[in-house]
Amino acid sequence: MIIAKILAVGLFLFLGENGIEVEYPAIEAPRPIEFVSLEASTEVVEGYWSTTELNSYNIPLDSLPERTLIRLEDGFSCPYGKNVFSHYGRRRGRNHNGVDIPVPPGTEVVSAFPGVVRLSTYHRGYGNIIIVRHSNGLETAYAHLSERKVKSGDIVSAGELIGLSGSTGRSTGPHLHFETLYCGHSFDPESFIDIKNGTLLQSPFFMLRRENLD
Ligand SMILES: [Zn+2]
Repeated sequence: MIIAKILAVGLFLFLGENGIEVEYPAIEAPRPIEFVSLEASTEVVEGYWSTTELNSYNIPLDSLPERTLIRLEDGFSCPYGKNVFSHYGRRRGRNHNGVDIPVPPGTEVVSAFPGVVRLSTYHRGYGNIIIVRHSNGLETAYAHLSERKVKSGDIVSAGELIGLSGSTGRSTGPHLHFETLYCGHSFDPESFIDIKNGTLLQSPFFMLRRENLD
């Protein structure tokens, strides 16, 4: 880029003296610094903290790296290990940004990864909802709970009880609504978790692509 500029200026000076008009070549807009992020930045993991906002980041999708490597080596526990009755994606014309797992009311819900509880509150749509921030930069959300067992700031390990399932908020029946998010953008939990078998599909790393974020 610098060489191109020097050449362009040189060409201008050279030809300019001879009375020939020279147009500068179009210079490409600078590309984003990070195309691939080897892991979530400290800012993503520790910053943008809110104990009240569902999305504490408010980062536009196009300013995120095209790919981010997510570590999954700190421990994992599937919050249930049952079939999914509603998958991620479009449903009845609306975007469903999580998966619905049919579990009887009162089923113990556990944190999928170790982390810190960012939000534990009641929301009109989500009912009782808990969002946990993980050290790998992901957040997981657990909604429609009948009971919340943790509060903002609580440190939880993978598999630790955080609440009981229910049907609070806008819910048509007892189930657990589970979301995985990166920088406030949801993506399909089934892209890296086999919910039926309660295992990770990819380990110890998972390449999260921006095109798969909503
Ligand atoms: Zn749902």
